[in-house]
Amino acid sequence: MANPLIELLKNKERVRDRLESLLNENEKEAALKDRHSYRKPLLCGMTVHTGIGCPLKCLYCYIGDMGFPWTIKPYPLNPLQLVYALASNPYFIPGDRGTFIALGSVTEPFLEIVKEKTIGYIEAIAKYLGNPIQFSTKMYLSKEDVIRLKEADQGISPLVTIVTLKHYKRLEPYAPNPLRRMETIENLSKAGLKPILFYRPVIPGINDREYRELLSLAREYGAKGVVVGGFRVTENILSRLEKAGFNTTYVIERLSSKPKGRRQVSVNIGDLKKRIMEYALSIGLTPFPLACMANLYTHGWRCVLMEEIGVHNGRKYSKPEYNHIVEASEYLGVEVFKTRFYGNKLVIYGRGDYSKLFLLSEVVKYYYRVCTKAKMV
Ligand code: SF4
Repeated sequence: MANPLIELLKNKERVRDRLESLLNENEKEAALKDRHSYRKPLLCGMTVHTGIGCPLKCLYCYIGDMGFPWTIKPYPLNPLQLVYALASNPYFIPGDRGTFIALGSVTEPFLEIVKEKTIGYIEAIAKYLGNPIQFSTKMYLSKEDVIRLKEADQGISPLVTIVTLKHYKRLEPYAPNPLRRMETIENLSKAGLKPILFYRPVIPGINDREYRELLSLAREYGAKGVVVGGFRVTENILSRLEKAGFNTTYVIERLSSKPKGRRQVSVNIGDLKKRIMEYALSIGLTPFPLACMANLYTHGWRCVLMEEIGVHNGRKYSKPEYNHIVEASEYLGVEVFKTRFYGNKLVIYGRGDYSKLFLLSEVVKYYYRVCTKAKMV
């Protein structure tokens, strides 16, 4: 039997070559200069930006500190350029066993001004790459929008962000009313998609006590699960919350260090997350501590970590085969000395070009559905 990891790597080359033949020189040059063509994927996959900036100015948002504006303009690449940029990225693996794609991390992808671009990107990713796509939104998506989305990608994983029913006017002053977003969940669900409530960020002392009401309502509207997500603060975020009259004492006491300037510091919400996820299970909502798990779930898979938290539906991961990993490393021209599990995380110890070792760990991660890290020795 052919080595599936090497097949994925060969497919990467084929996909890139094919896309290259569809673009002219100027288009190719612009795509290769774009950050989608070289930045490293995150733990939850590759974030794809359909716009630059966001005018919704949620108080807890960190995009301003990352240098993005509080206005929005459509992302400059056309859909073919975007998929070519991704296929050219040294860390990206195309295909349904490839890198997860997430839209909506640093912008709102369904604001009117970028909606067409977003749908165009989704269509192109589904058509030319075939990767599992997930988006997150706070917008109202009509029945027509949902049909278009489904036509663009039948299996897409929708996350609808609603973090409060009580404080939205102060926390998210320019975003649609949460009940309107519940209707988005309803429209997605009625169209046969699997909407997941995106309860992120959970902010201690501010929106962490209304989870029963929020989750129950989302379930009534047709949500299939909930991603319970953490909170990172900067100096600016804390000061915006305080100026809006929120008590930040419970946030501050859960910080490991004092935020300075634009640096993001994580708020420890492990206990709150656990409590909210337990409640979700008790009312029949599938709980996820990470967004990538919801992407896997929607696409009919489960990973090692999902099993641990009680998600047993979906195709099961297969055990990583050491011989396959070594052969794939030879194909890439790097050396692998050993692989070892630490809990549920696999570490590949190797030597050679780090970017290639990283690509190897990504192929292993997505093929076997196991969190994998590359370590140089
Ligand atoms: S919608 Fe998202 S990107 Fe826009 S301001 Fe709110 S949190 Fe930030």
